Amino acid sequence: MNKRSFIKLFFYGFVSLIIPLKKASTLEKKIINPNLTDEQKKIMFGGGTELAGSSILNYEKRKGFYHCANCNAKLFVSVTKYDSGTGWPSFTDAIPGAFITKTDYSHGMTRTAYYCAKCGAHHGHVFNDGPGKSGKRYCSNGICLIFIPD
Ligand SMILES: [Zn+2]
Repeated sequence: MNKRSFIKLFFYGFVSLIIPLKKASTLEKKIINPNLTDEQKKIMFGGGTELAGSSILNYEKRKGFYHCANCNAKLFVSVTKYDSGTGWPSFTDAIPGAFITKTDYSHGMTRTAYYCAKCGAHHGHVFNDGPGKSGKRYCSNGICLIFIPD
């Protein structure tokens, strides 16, 4: 290998390392659905949380997919949904690649917030006390989800 191709290789290696890092830290947020309500905007783009027990999705038990209310990306599949007793729709797993996570230090707590990978909308927080194999509990704001039955 000559010096030039080594530099080239080094450069591309460096770039391929930096691009995914940049993607995670500069999550692009964009409102795609013009019909989002003020409440949805407050939670998805303003760091809000819906009132516990307020979502009709707490009672949803049909088979289907849960989509992002903003960009329609598929986020959860119904088989991973369970009743956590928290008052928020909860899931043991997300569809792979659906979310980007970030540490959230707000309200004096250290939590892991998750955001739609496609549109950057905030959906909830993920905890390590789930009942499934993953051990995860995705605590979701139901108002940010659209359920589409099979
Ligand atoms: Zn989205």
